[in-house]
Amino acid sequence: MATQSLSRKDFIKNASMMLSSGMLAVDNDNLWQDLDEAQASKLTLKNVRLETGFEYEEGEVVATKTELFTIEITDGKISAVLPNQPTTKAIDAKGLLMLPAFRDMHIHLDKTYYGGSWKARSKKNRTVKDMIAFEQKVIPELLKTSTYRAEKLIELLQSRGSNFARSHVNIDSTSKLDSLYHLQQALQNKKDSFGAELVAFPQHGLFYTESAQWMKEAAKTNIDFIGGLDPTSIDGSIQKSLDFVVQLALEHQKGIDIHLHEGGEAGLKTVEFLIDRVNEHPVLKGKTYLSHCFVLARLEKPKLEEMADKLAHAKIGVVSTIPFGNTIMPIPTLYQYGVEVMTGNDSIIDHWNTFGTGSVLYKANLMAQLYGYSSELELSRCLKLATRNVLPLDEHGNRQWPKANDKADVVLVEASCSAEAVARVSPIKSLIHQGKVVY
Ligand SMILES: [Zn+2]
Repeated sequence: MATQSLSRKDFIKNASMMLSSGMLAVDNDNLWQDLDEAQASKLTLKNVRLETGFEYEEGEVVATKTELFTIEITDGKISAVLPNQPTTKAIDAKGLLMLPAFRDMHIHLDKTYYGGSWKARSKKNRTVKDMIAFEQKVIPELLKTSTYRAEKLIELLQSRGSNFARSHVNIDSTSKLDSLYHLQQALQNKKDSFGAELVAFPQHGLFYTESAQWMKEAAKTNIDFIGGLDPTSIDGSIQKSLDFVVQLALEHQKGIDIHLHEGGEAGLKTVEFLIDRVNEHPVLKGKTYLSHCFVLARLEKPKLEEMADKLAHAKIGVVSTIPFGNTIMPIPTLYQYGVEVMTGNDSIIDHWNTFGTGSVLYKANLMAQLYGYSSELELSRCLKLATRNVLPLDEHGNRQWPKANDKADVVLVEASCSAEAVARVSPIKSLIHQGKVVY
């Protein structure tokens, strides 16, 4: 996405929000100076807290060391990490902890009730096929406000520290390409403050409804991934469904991200089929993902380990739901075998679910609680789920972020260290996207 300055109006709005939260304790004259600075290509922040190492007792990490720094940002990148200069003229971060900006790696920005009135989901629609029939009825109504609501949803994600999302977008025979066009408009309106990659998602099946032709059209646009959905239960054939997805991805040089809810043999065969295809076409390695992939949660240990090993070798990532009812995904095993694990909010409030908070830091917290990651070191590692694997310290406590030339995509958090931020789901005080203050 292109880098452009914030509009004057937006910055004043943001600056006043920061003022009201006590972040920019400056008088009006200084605010205007800061306005000029924030609109320029260079931004300087002082009193920024960064992690610098671990403290050990008898070999165990018992605390995280931090120091205050001055950070210079130029042309959307961190240009210098300097010893703190508390008297220099700069935006005062007041000792807030700087972390890499968060990334929501699975959300549906195109269909949401968010931005409208409260609505719980209905008990009536349960199976995926029931939900498809329901969507065919409600999508024309949702489309009337979907651009506006996507923008509201993006603002929610920003307020929770995310400046990037991988959004699935319905490509189906009801909305045809309209869901995509409406979402592209919202992203265009937000392009200076938020980045995204899109998955063309055949939510109503490729062949169960006549969506394949629309998927071919969507693949010609600037979407990033070809999506898919439960090939056995919806389209009635793993091979027919996945061959279409793989061929379309290869033809248009896209990645793949498939919603797989199916368990048992159908789920397992789908995973194995996809692994084989990716191994046949190594260009797909590192850009193929299985979203949910609940079948992994129900495998016996030896089979799970075999599958985790195969997924890691094929460089197929798992975009996991945390949690999903009483289904607990085997995330520790996936990490152990080197499978890329990501997460997202999926639904914030819509006809599928109502419990989304917009925070992927909260997802990292849930992971810590579910799998018992409670020590200082373990909690600090959980942050990678929110940042898509960028961590300030490596496991030995060496600072690896931020470095000069890193993208200036950062959050300022009211926490003393990553471990506290994860354990307490600490408040997000500011978000900087490509060097511009956007929240
Ligand atoms: Zn989804």
